[in-house]
Amino acid sequence: MHFAEGTGSSGSVIQALLQAAQSFLIQPSCPICRASLAEGHPPMIAAEHWPCELCIEEYGLGRSDTSGTEPLPWKALGTYQGRFRQLVLKIKQQPQSRTGRAVIQLLAKVHSLPKGVLLVPIPSWRKKRGNPLPNLIAAGFGQPSTMLLHRTQAGLSQHHLNRSMRMHNLEGAFHAAPAPQTSLQSKTTVWLVDDILTTGATALAAQKALNKAGHPVGGIICLGRTPAKRLGR
Ligand SMILES: [Zn+2]
Repeated sequence: MHFAEGTGSSGSVIQALLQAAQSFLIQPSCPICRASLAEGHPPMIAAEHWPCELCIEEYGLGRSDTSGTEPLPWKALGTYQGRFRQLVLKIKQQPQSRTGRAVIQLLAKVHSLPKGVLLVPIPSWRKKRGNPLPNLIAAGFGQPSTMLLHRTQAGLSQHHLNRSMRMHNLEGAFHAAPAPQTSLQSKTTVWLVDDILTTGATALAAQKALNKAGHPVGGIICLGRTPAKRLGR
């Protein structure tokens, strides 16, 4: 009896300590602004990945205008301007940060993709220190992804080119591995993954290469889409 009493009291002390440690460790806070969050976040997403209402509003995360069909079907988390642009640039610097992981998780929650879709990250021009975001975004969806695309030529930087120059610059810029025999019967739909969708020239060149290799392309998933008014450069 003495033994049982002892176990009971040390057990409750441990339990109290555990509870204290737990509330300290997983005190939910916004992964973007660090404000502490009230209980009762939507259960569809882990507490550590759920931004506060203010951030969702301020960064325009997952608004209704974050998907479209031109020049190919696209789904984004926000419009690539203002504060959301700053946020994406910050994530680009530290893609593995809590903010980076949370934003990628949010993208995957806002835009669920049909089951069985294969994700294909758009590869960087630079082999060394290339952009890690497309791969991380693809991984965040928890769907199969594969590096089907390869760059075939070192192109000019796209930033200083207008739309038609970009298109020309990207002709034949990608090569895609052919669809394996087994998947030819039930053609797996591929979704492209990139961090930013601007004119869509890169995505269209990638789509062309994939189609040529026998892969139907459903669209592109990205963090941000450049607003329409900035496209006519
Ligand atoms: Zn916040």
